[in-house]
Amino acid sequence: MDFLPVFLDVRSRSCLVVGGGEVAARKAELLMRANAAVTVVAPELGRSLARYRAEGKLSHRARTFRASDIEDCALVIAATDDPGVNSEVSRLCRERTIAVNVVDAPELCSFIVPSIVDRSPVIVAVSSGGASPVLSRMLRTKLETMLPATYGRLATLAQGLRKRVKRRFKSAAQRRRFWEEVLHGPAAEMMLAGRERAAKCAIEVALQQHTPSSLSVGEVYLVGAGPGDPDLLTFRALRLMQQADVVVYDRLVAPAIVDLAHRGAERIYVGKACGEHCLTQEEINAILVRLAREGRRVLRLKGGDPFIFGRGGEEADALAAEGIPFQVVPGITAASGCAAYAGIPLTHRDFAHSCVFVPGHLKDGGDLDWNALAQPRQTLVIYMGLHTLEPICRRLIEAGLPAATPAALVQDGTTQSQRVLIGDLAGLPAKAAEGAMRPPALLIIGEVVRLHERFAWFEPAGVAEETAVRAVG
Ligand code: SAH
Repeated sequence: MDFLPVFLDVRSRSCLVVGGGEVAARKAELLMRANAAVTVVAPELGRSLARYRAEGKLSHRARTFRASDIEDCALVIAATDDPGVNSEVSRLCRERTIAVNVVDAPELCSFIVPSIVDRSPVIVAVSSGGASPVLSRMLRTKLETMLPATYGRLATLAQGLRKRVKRRFKSAAQRRRFWEEVLHGPAAEMMLAGRERAAKCAIEVALQQHTPSSLSVGEVYLVGAGPGDPDLLTFRALRLMQQADVVVYDRLVAPAIVDLAHRGAERIYVGKACGEHCLTQEEINAILVRLAREGRRVLRLKGGDPFIFGRGGEEADALAAEGIPFQVVPGITAASGCAAYAGIPLTHRDFAHSCVFVPGHLKDGGDLDWNALAQPRQTLVIYMGLHTLEPICRRLIEAGLPAATPAALVQDGTTQSQRVLIGDLAGLPAKAAEGAMRPPALLIIGEVVRLHERFAWFEPAGVAEETAVRAVG
């Protein structure tokens, strides 16, 4: 972060605007909205500022800027069309550590003014740190359309009830649960629809219905985080991530996704990597049960889909056995994610009518039904198969698949470091060793792999850069 976002209380404090034109007027308006005591220094005022002066909303010093103008100011904004004056204002303020902004001159600023969405008391501020004001304005417009005009009244209503809620629910976790239920529920909808009285009644009912103990029952969300790209999360996953008190996640979940969890949520890493389990599955189950018993809302975040080679079934089993409420949120499994981002349709009228997902790590020496797997017109997707790539390819050939059957290895699928290696059953193991492919990697076998050449659309940043360098060089 290049800037620290803060909201400044400038009520009744002296704020100075240097300049009398329309740009200065916009800045003065903003300060007036925050109830600052605004002084404008400029030989002449444009139309807007002259009107505010006539209305007694600001005071005016009708002359050029002097060093003494900044004395006792909380902040200063320079908006003149004279670069000399602007940099003088900046220099003087910086000498006295007074916050200063010079319009359109980031290098002269000690603070920048964000684009804002005003739903007072709720305020959303957006800034691109000066990188692209147009981009932050576009984002602001999006937010404007997302936040109903009555959003602020919802906050005001909540503010009015804070003391009562605090008396009724002693723990911060219970209060958070209460507010989340209310703000997601019918009362909030009524308030947003402008039905304030009905909303207040609904909140009264909620205050009666929720008891401290009813808000103390924990719950576990078994959530699929998808294969890596945070954009592939479901809305429900995101909503639960915002609600959870604690996040339990493994190695396969990308850090960018864990970051989306509620800021105050505790994060517990139970890193599992193929072959080197930090914690046993039983230990993870026990953690989930214990946290839920403490009354917490536990987000169990798993790579891909929790019910596909994710041992989500075992976790659900442990929770059901202990009578702990849980819900399961599907995620995009590695097969769907990697296939889509590698441009390989898993089924296709001309090449494959079925698709089979199998684990390649051959647990406990157990074996796969190679004859069933070596079928024509079938796509095979093999999870956790990188370390056993050679025996997998060999056994499929032995079971009757042609050695020239196309096969793909997708490493870090859907992420900016995705790599796709294409070969055939006979040659892929050597190619993978040569290309130093590493986990997580997914193996896709079948005629559909041929389509990659035509359908590959996704360009991870790393690859794009390489190509650009090559093009320039
Ligand atoms: N529940 C997960 C699978 C967990 S098993 C899901 O539904 O996707 C772990 C295996 O998934 C890895 O060994 C690898 O084969 C595959 N995998 C998961 N994420 C992947 C990714 N981004 N790219 C390639 N393979 C991935």
